[in-house]
Amino acid sequence: MTYKSDIEIARDAQKKPIQEIGDRLGIPSEHLLPYGHDKAKIGQTFINDVQDRPDGKLILVTAINPTPAGEGKTTTTVGLGDGLNRIGKKAMICIREASLGPNFGMKGGAAGGGYAQVVPMEEMNLHFTGDFHAITSAHSLLSAMIDNHIYWGNLSKIDTRRVTWRRVVDMNDRSLRQITSSLGGAANGYPREDGFDITVASEVMAILCLAKDLKDLEKRLGDMIVAYRTDKTPVFCRDIKAEGAMTVLLKDAMQPNLVQTLENNPAFVHGGPFANIAHGCNSVIATTTALKLADYVVTEAGFGADLGAEKFMDIKCRKAGLKPDAVVIVATVRAMKMNGGVAKDDLGTENVQAVKDGCLNLGRHIENMKKFGVPALVGINHFVTDTDAEVQAVIDYCASLGVEAVLNKHWAEGGAGIEETAQKVVALCDGGSANYAPLYGDDLPLAAKIETVCREIYRADGVVMDNKVLSQLKDWEEQGYGHLPVCMAKTQYSFSTDPDQRGAPTGFDIPVREVRLSAGAGFVVVVCGEIMTMPGLPRKPAAESIHLNEDGLIEGLF
Ligand code: ADP
Ligand code: MG
Repeated sequence: MTYKSDIEIARDAQKKPIQEIGDRLGIPSEHLLPYGHDKAKIGQTFINDVQDRPDGKLILVTAINPTPAGEGKTTTTVGLGDGLNRIGKKAMICIREASLGPNFGMKGGAAGGGYAQVVPMEEMNLHFTGDFHAITSAHSLLSAMIDNHIYWGNLSKIDTRRVTWRRVVDMNDRSLRQITSSLGGAANGYPREDGFDITVASEVMAILCLAKDLKDLEKRLGDMIVAYRTDKTPVFCRDIKAEGAMTVLLKDAMQPNLVQTLENNPAFVHGGPFANIAHGCNSVIATTTALKLADYVVTEAGFGADLGAEKFMDIKCRKAGLKPDAVVIVATVRAMKMNGGVAKDDLGTENVQAVKDGCLNLGRHIENMKKFGVPALVGINHFVTDTDAEVQAVIDYCASLGVEAVLNKHWAEGGAGIEETAQKVVALCDGGSANYAPLYGDDLPLAAKIETVCREIYRADGVVMDNKVLSQLKDWEEQGYGHLPVCMAKTQYSFSTDPDQRGAPTGFDIPVREVRLSAGAGFVVVVCGEIMTMPGLPRKPAAESIHLNEDGLIEGLF
């Protein structure tokens, strides 16, 4: 049997005009700002006007540690939104926008898959409503103003060897990772070492996704540290006086984007911070607005639950005052098998024992979610190769931990394939058993926050931090940053820092290589292992086969 590709399914979508989707949410037409027929932004005045309404229920979709076998968090998020609408609930979903650059490297979009997708998926994966271009522009404006400030006399006494503000572009381009800028003589400034990150790694992106409103955005932009002086004191964005103009460039990008699922249900697609050096969830403004417009809001966090859900709970919910009501942990039989030691090429053969072995990874994530006080259920994302015995092994394992696992077929069947989970999620939310609390308090010292996450979530024996890291954390505490949460940057493939240690590894330490302060976003990034902020392209980039066909349709993207 052959299956339609994601893009073929998306092309056949029976889309409704975006005004109709807005009407269903009660958004008056003057506050719905259409970008073409199938996308719209939501005006700031309307967002302000709905603030007094009660909040709907918030459901987080997260997953086991990812494997190359694929898990389907976005697919499940979209499917669950459709499933909730099918059982008669007023539900909407909130997911991230896609980074454009990576699409030209490896195939793979961010709009879900199969019959659980948001549309228009090509646009969402390319230029969309221009938000990421606006972020690139705002970031680049500050870059230009920093070098201009140095050029015209360097009033702030920036040490040109200590400019921490790098440049960004939304393209996988490894040649720009480390560069020398301002070459070519006195008219071009003072040569210095510089480099590029991909746009989604910009602190501007993290701020856009955490800011409450434009005022908060401007303040946080001003708080960003861009460089240090020779006496090691920080130079802020506000010293360069860039935050006002940056906010002007970001004005429209701050407004959530409304699109629809294949089943014509509303979806906000807004923001997309990196899940390693940032927190990896869609914007706070989209989530808080959705909670005012729908009774159930389904959202997603990047990577596995050890990184994604932990940051969702400890950074996004803490900062935005969100209180999640339920968690769905996505698991697949294939990923269970890989976590149980099976190689990717052997996934096609039934192997119940490997599924059982791999379930230890799932079990740890289930236990971890309890530490945040939010009830969870497991959503098994069904692949056609799964056997009944393998699926039953996952269900039995979860039952032994007192957690329900439900088989979902939304990828093949859309919302109809996930109704049972939708019913159970409603029961979890309405049962009122959620009692959300972050893992650690604001007052804990920064080093102790890092230890808490490593021990409680990763189950590490300890944390290895050298004196340089420890004294850096102390300095930040003295400068008034001690109350910030930590943002862990670690491999997503394992609880440990070794990507090959799948399952539920024990007997390891977490080495902290470096710490960085994102003073505007409001977290301390803790780098454990190699973290790439500018990806490269593979030997045969997807771009080589992407083209427009005779009908003007995009081929080769997905
Ligand atoms: P995540 O959000 O966890 O990264 P996605 O939901 O984006 O994962 O899915 C990744 C890819 O896997 C998509 O291309 C999607 O079409 C595919 N996929 C997801 N679920 C299934 C499934 N049940 N069967 C086959 N392919 C699937
Ligand atoms: Mg995803």
